[in-house]
Amino acid sequence: MHCCRSSPPRPSSGWSTGVSDATISCVHLEIGSLSGVSADSVRFYFPMAAEGTNLAGAKLEISEVPARCRCGSCGAEFEPDGPIPLCACGSPDAAVLSGGSMRILSVEVANGDGQRAQAHPG
Ligand SMILES: [Zn+2]
Repeated sequence: MHCCRSSPPRPSSGWSTGVSDATISCVHLEIGSLSGVSADSVRFYFPMAAEGTNLAGAKLEISEVPARCRCGSCGAEFEPDGPIPLCACGSPDAAVLSGGSMRILSVEVANGDGQRAQAHPG
């Protein structure tokens, strides 16, 4: 059985998801608009990065999430429309509440017998 794995993903090892002995059939990524990562370039580079690994041929599903920031000057919450969070009051002193990173939402594992299991890191 390949379900119920408790090992966390290891971001330092590139695209490896910690399920190195299984074939990955689908990867769900969440990319925040302030993560500095372009979903288009991930889609473009994924097949090359996955080639020769257990991710080869895996489907890539990307959820792009808008970032939310809170202004440190006036306290307003807003969604930045550019790479630099800038409050409507003109202050650049904003804390990123969400959407500031890229993370793996889930990984679908294709077992040898054709069954599928979901791994949910985090
Ligand atoms: Zn403000």
